[in-house]
Formats: sequence, C-alpha cells, structure tokens
Amino acid sequence: MKVVKFGGSSLANAENFRRVKDIVNSDEGRTVVIVSAPGKRHSADTKVTDLLYICHAHLTYKVGFDDIFADIAKRYTDIAEGCGLSDNIKDVLSEVRAGMTRHSSVDEIVSRGEYMNARLMAEYLGYDFIDAKDWLYFDFDGKVDYEKTYAALKGISLLHPKMVLPGFYGVLPDGKIHTFSRGGSDVTGAIAAAALSADCYENFTDVSGILMADPKIVDSPKPIQRITFNELRELSYMGAEVLHEETVFPVRQANIPLYIKNTQDPAAKGTLIMESFPDEIEEERQRFITGITGKKHYSIITISKNRMTEDLSFIRRVLQITEKHHIPVEHIPSSIDSFSLVIATKHLTGSLHLLLSDIQQTVNPDSIKVCDGVSLIAVVGRRMAATTGVSGQIFATLGLNGINIRMIEQGSDEINIIIGVMDADFSTAIRTLYESFT
Ligand code: ASP
Repeated sequence: MKVVKFGGSSLANAENFRRVKDIVNSDEGRTVVIVSAPGKRHSADTKVTDLLYICHAHLTYKVGFDDIFADIAKRYTDIAEGCGLSDNIKDVLSEVRAGMTRHSSVDEIVSRGEYMNARLMAEYLGYDFIDAKDWLYFDFDGKVDYEKTYAALKGISLLHPKMVLPGFYGVLPDGKIHTFSRGGSDVTGAIAAAALSADCYENFTDVSGILMADPKIVDSPKPIQRITFNELRELSYMGAEVLHEETVFPVRQANIPLYIKNTQDPAAKGTLIMESFPDEIEEERQRFITGITGKKHYSIITISKNRMTEDLSFIRRVLQITEKHHIPVEHIPSSIDSFSLVIATKHLTGSLHLLLSDIQQTVNPDSIKVCDGVSLIAVVGRRMAATTGVSGQIFATLGLNGINIRMIEQGSDEINIIIGVMDADFSTAIRTLYESFT
C-alpha cells in the first residue's frame, strides 16, 4: 500500500488532475491520496492558499472580498468542468464562503484550499473523502498528537480502503482547525504513511527528485537517486528546498521509504530517501558526493586572546553572551589562541555593537574582528567518510579557481564538509565543485 501526496503545482488545473488520476490508477497500491490546494498554473499566477490569506486580511480589515473569492471559486469550478465532474463543488464553495464570514480564524480560512481540492479529487478518483479534522489531531500547543492521530486514521482506513485526504491542517482539542506552516501537506502525507504502515510514501512534485545542486546556479544538475535522511537534513538545512522539514520525522521513525517524484514525468526514477542503504549502485560507486548546497550572508566574529585555552571558562562565557542576546551560533571553528563564531548576519542586525561590547567587557580579549559577507557551502555525501582525497579535491578545486577559503568545518559524522567563502565567490564555488565531483 502506497500513500501518495500531490503538491499544489501538480493540482493547479484540470489537465493536472487528469495526470494525477492516471498516476493513481496506474498502480493499484496507490489507495491513499493526499492533496495540496491548487498551486500556480504559470509563473505569474497566485496559489489558492495565498488568495485565501488575502481573503482573511480583507475580512480582518472589513474590506469586501467578493472579487478574490470569485477568483478562488473559478479555480475549482474550472477544474470540475474540465474533469467532467458534477457541480457539487458549487455547494461546497457556498458553504466555505458562509463559513468565512462567521469570524473564522486564519487557519480555518486557509485550510479550505486543501479541503475543497480533496473534495474534488475524491469525486474524480471515486475514492472516499476523509476530512483532516476527523483524524489529524494537534495538542493545544500545536504539536501533532501522534498516538491519537495514528489510531484514528487506522480505524478510518478499515471502513474506507481508498481515500483522499486534504493536507496542511488538522484539529485542536477544542475542535478548531489548525494548520502546519506553509508547505505542510508534505507532513500530512508522512503522518498518513506512518499511521497506515504504508510500504512507501510517494511525494509527487514538479521536479524529478532532489537535484545535486541548485539549478539556478548549476546548469541542469543531475538528480540524486538515493539519499539518506541524515544527508537530506544537511542539504536542507544549508539551503536546498525539498520537503517541509517536519516531513521526515514520521516516516523515518516508521522506517518507510520516501520517494520524491515528478507528476509531469512519473516514469522518471526520482529520489529515494531512506535511513541507510545496504548496497551501492553504480552511480554511487563513481561519485563520493551526494549534493552541494550553501547559504549566503554570514558573519564571522573572531575573538583572540593569548593563552585562551588556559582559561577554561573563556568560550563558555562568550557563548553565554550570545545566548543572552538570543543569537544562534551555527559553527565555532577554533585554534589555540582564538575562536570564531559563525552567525547568519540577519541575527546580528541591531545587536552587533551590544554583543561586541558585552564580549569585550566580559572576557577582555586581545582583539575581536568581524568579517561580513561570508557564504557557507556544504559538500554532503555519506561515502566521504570512507573515501580519501575528498577534502583535497575540494581545496584544490577552489584554489585552482582563485577562490579563497575563509573557514573549514567537518561535521563529526563526516557526512559533510562546510567551507566558508566570500559571498562574491558563492556561485563560482558551487559550480566548480559540482563540475569537479560529477
Ligand atoms: N497549500 C499550502 C501552502 O501553499 C500547503 C501545501 O501546499 O503544502 O503552503
């Protein structure tokens, strides 16, 4: 049994709906389908979820929202017509519109995008529609109540073996609708897959899997065929946009393979994400690197003091100051008489001078230097730990291309090497590293 989730770009119009139906029908294991709200039909289009946020803003400021609601309604009626469905959706739209004017919360209003799309998709596939409010339970603090949720969906699935579930929202203990953060239908799919002990969770989107590098920087980067959850975490944290970050937890815990697939090209292999792989495929034997990514706009604050290591509390006292100012420190490279704090520059806006003077007064260093405009680049690969020469190749590649390295760090599990370069060298560094390793 497969749990299949389709993202908004895969459900933007009737043509996409037809494609989704073909995909679902082509494999009889695809019995549980999760849908997002209709996304963009073209680059200048607006997602239905965004239109719903605008409706909520209009309601808040008591401005009429008829025009926007008419746009939303047309998205759904066009799909229904294009798929030859009944006009039930018109009643659903009236019910949703009436609900909006009854002081609905923002979560309730924006959740209707998924709700209505799931109603349509259920009718189109001939599957049962199951509302997320009947099984996806949150605690009062907005965290998923997994036990209650899993039990509820398991029970429902006995009576409804083929079902369509709206993504993105669930219900709070007081019966009110609550949503995940944006992109949360990914999480709904993962929870459903774990609840039903699915054989796999297929997440259909508009790319053929996770790419080895950002296609805005590297020309047609190769897709990654297989990646571990740990590698995915490294790549996502450092900037690769793949899945909602909470997606991984339920499927990882239940050891369910997760596929990223392309709705426009369902025959393409896509990317398989698992805890580990017992074997190596040909492509992996030839390549040590899984992916390369990075983030710009970091600052490096270097604090030096002669014989720093003899003062056992030195680093702790500095970190207490960053903690006091609520500044997250991402890396702490160190040497004998100095260490550096690598911090996203946005976290220093408005507090840098206060932070520096606090450090000066507390630990009385010999010097404090700040270097702005640094990018961090992560080279990620589970096979790096067992392979000699990877870091040599990284440094040689960057050196040959005239790129100065400002910082080096390797994660303790040796699946990533992080290099700091100046922002101006960011794209060239990623491009040349990608070329060197592929
Ligand atoms: N429709 C929601 C959004 O646009 C949730 C999702 O698509 O996953 O963020």
